[in-house]
Amino acid sequence: MKERGFWFDTEAKLTQRTILPALQHDIAADIAIIGAGYSGLWTAYYLKQYQPNLSVAILEADTIGQGASGRNGGWLMGSFSGDVAYLNQLQGESRLMAKALIQQIIAEVAAVCAKHHIDCDLHHGGNLRVAARYPEQLANIQAELAQWRRQGFGEADIRWLDKTELDKQVSMAHGQAALYTPHCARIHPAKLVCGLADVVQNLGVKIFEQTPVTHIEHWGAAQTRLHTPKGSARAAIVVPAVEGYLRQLGELGRFTLPVQSLLIATEPLTDEMWQDIGLANRATFSDASRIVTYGQRSPDNRLIFGARGGYGFGAKVRTEFGFNRECFNAQSPASDPQSALKGEFGFRYQLLLALFPQLADVQITHGWGGTLALARQFAPHAIYDKNVGLGLIGGYGGEGVGAANLFARTLVDLILARDTPLTTMPWAFNAPIQQVLTPWEPEPLPWLAYHGMNKIFAWEDRLYSRPKSAAWQKGLAKRLANKLEGLMS
Ligand SMILES: Cc1cc2nc3c(=O)[nH]c(=O)nc-3n(C[C@H](O)[C@H](O)[C@H](O)COP(=O)(O)OP(=O)(O)OC[C@H]3O[C@@H](n4cnc5c(N)ncnc54)[C@H](O)[C@@H]3O)c2cc1C
Repeated sequence: MKERGFWFDTEAKLTQRTILPALQHDIAADIAIIGAGYSGLWTAYYLKQYQPNLSVAILEADTIGQGASGRNGGWLMGSFSGDVAYLNQLQGESRLMAKALIQQIIAEVAAVCAKHHIDCDLHHGGNLRVAARYPEQLANIQAELAQWRRQGFGEADIRWLDKTELDKQVSMAHGQAALYTPHCARIHPAKLVCGLADVVQNLGVKIFEQTPVTHIEHWGAAQTRLHTPKGSARAAIVVPAVEGYLRQLGELGRFTLPVQSLLIATEPLTDEMWQDIGLANRATFSDASRIVTYGQRSPDNRLIFGARGGYGFGAKVRTEFGFNRECFNAQSPASDPQSALKGEFGFRYQLLLALFPQLADVQITHGWGGTLALARQFAPHAIYDKNVGLGLIGGYGGEGVGAANLFARTLVDLILARDTPLTTMPWAFNAPIQQVLTPWEPEPLPWLAYHGMNKIFAWEDRLYSRPKSAAWQKGLAKRLANKLEGLMS
């Protein structure tokens, strides 16, 4: 059976959802969207909000939320990767406008959920970036705060929590201090994506599941035909909203790099354990390292914890991760405490125990992962080429839960030629895709760069985590890591 990940596996209502029929014949629509994740569904939602008479069809290769939208860490952020670079292209009023649009993402998603009764366990508790596992993380967050201040982000956006304030929020081993931002909320990812799908269907959008687009024929106004195994969709405007899967759609794929991220989940923790751990206000959290850790207290009271994953040579999309629950089950004869610490999930388990040693006897019940996409400019985009009727959003680089809403709204305003502040933003492009995006280099360069970066970041982290590492080694690792981070951002 196909892996669907924790969020679907633990929510009976979603697991038992009836799959919508696949496309079985040829259809025509005003707008055809490829992919039923957040990007595709938000695009459909705003199209129908502003022009209810438009006919909109969504073709989904698998099932709703089968991509990153049903597998992520549930951080709904009022920010996105690359946002500061966009802000820095603006000044004065327009910069303030852009900042507000970005930070209002959470309020917008919450308002839509409230309006349509989507229950996705949204809890607006902010985010903690904690200096914890090794002393140098303190210097990391001091430098980060100074950087935020230089960019004009004040106390209302990000503030310092000293150890006493941090301990009131979360009890992490060696927790020294933290940066706190209110611009993040916790959600249940699969409930959001399925809730959105229900809403857009009620608005008249046709969703076809198990309908992979195999071929896109001729870009041209009113003449684009999307071929699927049993039927085709003809539309004047096509929106590929496939993020990490773009490589599978031919030429356009060279503009994104599909990379993975992986998570684990504990069994539900007792009230006593939560009194010890904290996170009473459901703040999402990470530690201040370069291996991009992220966690949340889930709606069913587990600790969910993840970290950046790898990249498969040749830009492979990965949806199967092979988590072996028995390895983590102390009662099972197959369990071996050492093997639980090995491999992709073992690496995350080690990090989790380093932050929360009080979880040593707690069972890890789930491990899963998903594929996300990096744009070569390391920032997402909303592009509409009206001459060929093609709209493209994505390149969120692991921060797309909230960004998908903002970029879908931007794309819809571009498509409908609405005169709004969104279409004046530096991430909005009325132009051919090739004029906006830079293609990724051919292999083996992406593999060497990404693989090398992951190795160096992990090496740096290991050296800093060991009290006896030589200062020169730490210095060397840091210099190399800084260099690579500079190249990849
Ligand atoms: C493990 C993990 C953790 C993450 N954690 C966070 C987080 O905490 N916060 C955050 O902001 N971001 C996070 N992200 C990123 C975020 O989940 C994504 O950016 C976001 O979900 C992208 O949504 P999307 O709709 O663009 O793409 P997806 O959700 O990937 O949807 C694309 C859809 O297109 C379909 N598709 C693909 N090819 C075809 C085809 N040929 N024909 C038809 N359909 C097709 C796929 O089946 C899929 O359903 C995480 C990502 C991963 C993988």
